Amino acid sequence: MRRHASIQLCASLGLLEEDELRDLHNAGVTRYHCNLETAPSYFSQLCSTHTQEQKIATLLAARKVGMDICSGGIIGMGETVEQRIEFAFALAELEVQSIPINLLSPIPGTPLEHEKPLSEEDILRCIALFRFINPTAFLRFAGGRSQLTPQAMRKALYIGINSAIVGDLLTTLGSKVSDDKKMILEEGYHFADSQFDREHLWHPYTSTSNPLPVYKVERADGATITLESGQTLVEGMSSWWCAIHGYNHPVLNWAVNKQLEKMSHVMFGGLTHDPAIELGKLLLPLVPPSLQKIFYADSGSVAVEVALKMAIQYWYAAGEVKKNNFVTIRSGYHGDTWNAMSVCDPVTGMHSIFGSALPARYFVPAPVSRFDGEWNPADIVPLRETLKKHAGELAALILEPIVQGAGGMRFYHPQYLREAKQLCEEYGLLLIYDEIATGFGRTGKLFAWEHAGVEPDIMCIGKALTGGYVTLSATLTSNQVADTISNHAPGAFMHGPTFMGNPLACAVAYASTKLLLESGWQANVQRIENQLRIELAPARTLPQVADVRVLGAIGVIETKEPVDMAYMQRRFVEEGIWVRPFGKLVYLMPPYIITPEELHKLTTGLLKIVREL
Ligand code: PMP
Repeated sequence: MRRHASIQLCASLGLLEEDELRDLHNAGVTRYHCNLETAPSYFSQLCSTHTQEQKIATLLAARKVGMDICSGGIIGMGETVEQRIEFAFALAELEVQSIPINLLSPIPGTPLEHEKPLSEEDILRCIALFRFINPTAFLRFAGGRSQLTPQAMRKALYIGINSAIVGDLLTTLGSKVSDDKKMILEEGYHFADSQFDREHLWHPYTSTSNPLPVYKVERADGATITLESGQTLVEGMSSWWCAIHGYNHPVLNWAVNKQLEKMSHVMFGGLTHDPAIELGKLLLPLVPPSLQKIFYADSGSVAVEVALKMAIQYWYAAGEVKKNNFVTIRSGYHGDTWNAMSVCDPVTGMHSIFGSALPARYFVPAPVSRFDGEWNPADIVPLRETLKKHAGELAALILEPIVQGAGGMRFYHPQYLREAKQLCEEYGLLLIYDEIATGFGRTGKLFAWEHAGVEPDIMCIGKALTGGYVTLSATLTSNQVADTISNHAPGAFMHGPTFMGNPLACAVAYASTKLLLESGWQANVQRIENQLRIELAPARTLPQVADVRVLGAIGVIETKEPVDMAYMQRRFVEEGIWVRPFGKLVYLMPPYIITPEELHKLTTGLLKIVREL
């Protein structure tokens, strides 16, 4: 079934052993069902062939092999109200994710054939009790619900039912899917996820057999995201740090539309166009003055790949073919493609999975001197030692200047860049800055290298380059690097992706960068920084918080223990804010156009949820 359809499978096969359950899980079953049926104190009066403990053992074994568990039972079998409560607590103790509630349908010829049906009032009260006692479980309408009037069935949805078993059941007729859907929609509810998305779309860093929840977006405007449910969330992430002007911006929309009328794409091999030229003219005065050549690329990771290739080809052209490796600092993040991944932090990155297939790089400890603290000269020693020993095989040092983003949201001292630059010159290494996350004003300077004032040989930009409209990045380098590569066989830099210099992307990048320069971004980022400093400060005193730090339009709360992303994300959505934490980092990187009121909603929501941890 799993091979031919992506429907999530739940098996219900009675009492099984761990090995059998593991086989089922390996075959694609992600949930196992075994009803406790009734209260522990009542079970033995109803069933003599096996015990409830055996059922619990099966459920725990299913969980142990990696399955969700589904367990509920039948009400109206002669149990007392107290026993129904006891039953609900037994399920809560097992942390059952899915609870089917059946209403007894007395079948002639069975011992319970004369059992008096429960009143609607009793049934609804029981559902409410189950919901209170199991607040996050799927509470499923199952067998016997045809006993309820349509009005009672609808009331049950308000009281706590949020899912259903549909189709016919073993001994009774069930409901039609279309009727259930109609009822749910008529009551003003919607379906939690798009089923197709859950079954077929692979989201970033997510399991396909047990995917994290996703929220369906209807539209996004300014600093808000509107979900399909109609709920509006204040945007704290700028869509992974790129949507600096917010969403649906008239200036950027206009730029895309205007360019669309001319051409959305032409190849960059042998052809050129105004969007690429105008964007280049706009960018050059903004980046380190020695960077004179621009290589447009597709995404941040590709810009990093291009930078690494440039460094290798530079040394190849210079006749130093042994200089073909890289050194970087720990806690870095440079992207998910092969070589970008190889220079990500080896512990928090993906080295444990891909390590044996990745080229081995040199890693030195990241500087511990904080951006706003004292410079500790010991910070540079490991880099000096590594260069002393290995400079002959090193093409470049790559790092994120000042702010290490996805590798830990660390802000380090500008002196590190000055000393690193000196060492690179002394030992003959190129210096590569990855400004993909830090660029376009995020740290309070247009680019983060300005905090230190030392220029790189190669620099990567991306993310906010197009204001978050479409993917585009660029790798910039000096004439010296470009000329050295070009003046040696094969006389060309060996890279050329299909969508290089895409006109649509360049046109919107031009509009976004111009908008940024004309928007008074310094004042906006300063305003956001001041507000983040004041409003996140109370988190410092919380016992669950290890550190609070703010730089430019970045506010970080580092917790002592890793957070449960799915749980926190849900709580943030309930608070009306969009924040996606990772590891021990709960952070904000809002669009620069966010209003003080919207930012206040973000910081108060954030603090509220962190306090709950
Ligand atoms: N470098 C840095 C510093 C980044 O933060 C990122 C993205 N988080 C990348 C590279 C990779 O960019 P992309 O996801 O566009 O490939």
